[in-house]
Amino acid sequence: MQADLKMNFFVEDLINLPKVRVRSVVREREAIFLQLGFREEEVACPHCGKKTGELNQTRTVRVRDLPISGQLVYLQIPRRQFYCKKCQQYFTEELDFIETGRRFTRRYEEYIYERVIASSVEQVKREEDLSWHQVNGIHQQVYERKKKVNWGQVKRLGLDEIAKHKGHKKFVTVVSDLEKGELIEVIDSHQQEEIAEVLLQQPLEVREAVEEVSVDMWGGFPKLIEKVFPNAQIVVDRFHVMKAVNDNLNKIRKQVKFKIKIKGAKWLLLKNQKDLKEEGLEKLEAVLKQSKRLRKAYQLKEDFREIYETTQDPESGKNKFKEWLCKAQSIYGDAVKTIRNHLNTICNYFLSRTTNGVMEGINNRLKLIKRQAYGFINFENMRMRFLSCFT
Ligand SMILES: [Zn+2]
Repeated sequence: MQADLKMNFFVEDLINLPKVRVRSVVREREAIFLQLGFREEEVACPHCGKKTGELNQTRTVRVRDLPISGQLVYLQIPRRQFYCKKCQQYFTEELDFIETGRRFTRRYEEYIYERVIASSVEQVKREEDLSWHQVNGIHQQVYERKKKVNWGQVKRLGLDEIAKHKGHKKFVTVVSDLEKGELIEVIDSHQQEEIAEVLLQQPLEVREAVEEVSVDMWGGFPKLIEKVFPNAQIVVDRFHVMKAVNDNLNKIRKQVKFKIKIKGAKWLLLKNQKDLKEEGLEKLEAVLKQSKRLRKAYQLKEDFREIYETTQDPESGKNKFKEWLCKAQSIYGDAVKTIRNHLNTICNYFLSRTTNGVMEGINNRLKLIKRQAYGFINFENMRMRFLSCFT
């Protein structure tokens, strides 16, 4: 008996739940069952705060907790219902380590939540011997507990579109805080009115504080931005403009009939010249030697990047880009047209030179989450998973 009490004392230490006593420990196959009790016989009424010891009834629930030494742990918790004389009401005792109606402790749910973010529902489900719906439900529960309703202060905001599924034509709009490098909203549409509807839920002072909105060249964003973020300057994100030029250069490369095939030609052409080592430069020269048109296109691409690197204000940026557009007209038909249409907003980049890596980084991270997720059951599920990875 004495030995038992002593052992339980150590188990109580181990499970680290103040106010709780461990009455017995039972091991069954791979699992440990801890029968709990409480140190206090009186609890405070949630309505009036007065302490009462008038126990009406007790019902035991089984709740999953964090594993101990690789073994599953279940807590058998007596849920006590008391009667408060002052309020003339029954109430069930509130416990800080489990939420009403849940079958998992809070800390276990937090642990599952973190693991889902680090891997995927599929993987956690297998490792924890839970069902897909249990893992997904826990993730949702913790997310609801943590989510921020208001964005807080966002000065530089990015709007971007990503495909719902790989190669899919359905898009979602992702909203990010470019200064913090965080995703702040995901919208199930790329239609202006629908996006506006979601964005307008933010209070006016939050929207007015946005100074700059970065976008790509495809969405019909300008009107929407004026309406939602009245003080914002529209900037076409540098990453998207450079991508338009690079895509066009790659198209030109595909049209060339090479006599000598050189491995990695695409990569050599798209990479910044200043980042190439001697060996790379030699290979690049071997590629360019084979087509005058490709050489010209390549030089124009490098010139374009140079303008981005060296320009200090929108006005001179505009002049340099205009000059470039004239020279590039005959070679870069597609990109020239797109850039000309957005020249003013492209040049707004030079106002504050918002880094072009942030949107690209968020984009890549979302793609990775999508790949690991093996699909989502619905949009809300996808949105939540995305957002939780950035908090
Ligand atoms: Zn009361």
